[in-house]
Amino acid sequence: MSTDADLRALDVAWDLDPLIDGRGEAGVDAMLDDVAARVEAVGRFRGRVGELDAAELAECVRELAVLSEILGRVGSYAGLRYTVDVTDAARGALMARVEERSARLANDLLFFDLEWAALTDEHVAPLLVDERLAFCRHHLASSRRYRPHLLTEPEERILIEKGVTGASAWARLFSDLTSTIVVDLPTGPVSLEEGLAQLASPDRDVRRTAAEAVTAGLAPGLRTRAFVFNTLLADKATDDRLRSFPSWISSRNLDNEASDASVQALVDAVTARSDIPQRWYRLKAQLLGLPRLADYDRMASVAADEDEFGWAEARDLVLDAYASFSGELADDARRFFDEAWIDAPVRPGKRPGAFCAYTVPSHHPYLLLNWTSRRRDVLTLAHELGHGLHAYLARDQIVFQQSTPLTLAETASVFGETVTFGRLLERTTDPDARLALLAESLEGQIATVFRQIAMNRFEDAVHTERREVGELSVERFGDLWAATQGDMLGDAVEITEGYRTWWSYIPHFMATPGYVYAYAYGQLLALSVYKRYEEEGDAFVPAYLELLRRGGSDTPEALGAVVGVDLGDPGFWTGGLAIVDAQLAAAEQAARDTGRL
Ligand SMILES: [Zn+2]
Repeated sequence: MSTDADLRALDVAWDLDPLIDGRGEAGVDAMLDDVAARVEAVGRFRGRVGELDAAELAECVRELAVLSEILGRVGSYAGLRYTVDVTDAARGALMARVEERSARLANDLLFFDLEWAALTDEHVAPLLVDERLAFCRHHLASSRRYRPHLLTEPEERILIEKGVTGASAWARLFSDLTSTIVVDLPTGPVSLEEGLAQLASPDRDVRRTAAEAVTAGLAPGLRTRAFVFNTLLADKATDDRLRSFPSWISSRNLDNEASDASVQALVDAVTARSDIPQRWYRLKAQLLGLPRLADYDRMASVAADEDEFGWAEARDLVLDAYASFSGELADDARRFFDEAWIDAPVRPGKRPGAFCAYTVPSHHPYLLLNWTSRRRDVLTLAHELGHGLHAYLARDQIVFQQSTPLTLAETASVFGETVTFGRLLERTTDPDARLALLAESLEGQIATVFRQIAMNRFEDAVHTERREVGELSVERFGDLWAATQGDMLGDAVEITEGYRTWWSYIPHFMATPGYVYAYAYGQLLALSVYKRYEEEGDAFVPAYLELLRRGGSDTPEALGAVVGVDLGDPGFWTGGLAIVDAQLAAAEQAARDTGRL
C-alpha cells in the first residue's frame, strides 16, 4: 500500500540551483552582467556579417550560442522558480527583472539575424554547404525561409504598422466579443467556458439544456462575429497574394516547416478514416443507452476509473515501459527521478497542468507536474518524460537547434505515452477499468486527430470560398460548419440545428489561421512512428534514438527520413490510424465484456 506522502508525491521537488551554479539571486545578476560584457564583444561583428567567411561566421554563431545559453539558464531559473509559487511577489519580481534585462540584451544581438537575412542567396549558398558551419546549418538556412515571401523594406514597414490596426485589431475585437458571451443555465448565468463544461455531465437533460443555452448565448452578435471573420479571411487572402503564397495554408506550413505535400497527406489519411470516430460514437451511444448521440452528448463520460497510483509505483511502471523499449533511454529517464529534475506535488500557488522545460543543451530539462495519483497522471508523467528525453538526447545540438518545430514536438512524448499506455492496459484485467482506460485514450485521439482535421476542413472551405466567391453569410458559415463536421460524424451523431453556429467562438480561426492541424500532425506523426516500431521491433530503436538526438537540426521531412519514413506519403500516416483503430477494437471488446451492451 502506498503511504499518503507517496500518493501525493510530497517529496518530489526539483532542484533549480545548478542552473545558476548555486549562487542564488546574486548569481542571476552576475550572469546577466557577464552577458552584457559578452554582448559588447560580439558587437565587433555588427555591420560586417556580409563580410564574414565560414570560419568567422562559425565563431560569431558560437559566441551568440554562449550568450543564448547563459540567458536561457537565468531565464529558466527565474521562470521555473516562479511557476511553483506564482503568489510569491519576490519570485515574480525576479522574473520580471530577468525578462526586462534579457530583452534589452537580446535586442543588441538582433543585428545578426537581420544582416544574415538580408544577404543574397548567391552569397550564402557556399557558406551553407561549408563543413565548418555544419553544426548550425539548419538554423542558418531556416532563419531565411521567409525570404522569398518578403516585400521591399518600405512595404514591410507599412504592413507591420498598419497590421496593428488591421488583422490583429480584428482578432482582438473577436476575442473581446467572445469573452463577454453569457450562457444562461437554469442555475444562473455563467461564462461560455463554464457552459461548455456542462457537456461532460452524465445527465443528458443537463447536457441538452446546456447546449441550448450555449446556442442562445452565441446568438447575440453572431452577425458581427461573422463580419469579423469575413474581414480576416479577406485580409489573409490579400496577404497571401502580395507575398505570393500559393494557397491559404502555405504560410502556416512554412511556419511549421511542414511541406504542403505532407499536410495534404495527413488530411487525406485522416478524412479517409472517419469510420473510427463514427464507430466510437455508435459504441458510446450503446453504453449511454441512447439510440444515437447528438452533438451535445459527445463529451459525456462513459466509465469512471477510481484506481490510485503511488509515486513510486508510477515511477517503476514508467521506467519499466521505457526499458521495454530501450535500456539506454530508461537509464536516462532514471536520472529525472534520482537527480531532482521533476517537481510533482500539487501545492498552493503552483501553476496548474504539466510541462517540460528544455532549458539549454549544457544543462538538463525539468518536468513540472501536478500529481493527483490518477491513472491519467501516470500517462502525463510518461508524456512529459518523453519531452524531457527528447531534449536530453538533443543536448549535443547547438542551442538554436535543440528543440524541434511544432510539428515534431510530440514525437517522443506521445511515443513514450503510448508504450506506457500499452503496459497499463496489459495489467488492467477488469473490463470496466479497461473500458475506462481505452475510452479516455480514444476520446483524446479523436479530439486531437479527427476533430482538428474536421476544423481544418472547415477553414479550408471558408478560406477558399471567400477567395473564389466572396463574403460568406452567417447561414453559409453554418452550412460549411455542419457539412465538415458531418463528414467526420456521418450518421453516428445527430447535428442539431443549434450546433450550426458553434464555429463562432473558436479563437484559433481568427488569430492564427491554419493552426489547428498541427495538433493532429504532431500526434499522428508520433503514433505512425510508433507503428513502425511495432512492425520492426528492436531493429527500429537505434534509428529512433538518432532521430531524437537530431533535435531540431533539420526539416521534419529530413528528420523523418532518419527513421525511414516519408511524411509526404499518405501510407505513412495510416500507420498511426491503425494504432487508434486497434484501441477502438479493444474498447469494443471491453464493452462487450462489461455486459453493458
Ligand atoms: Zn506534449
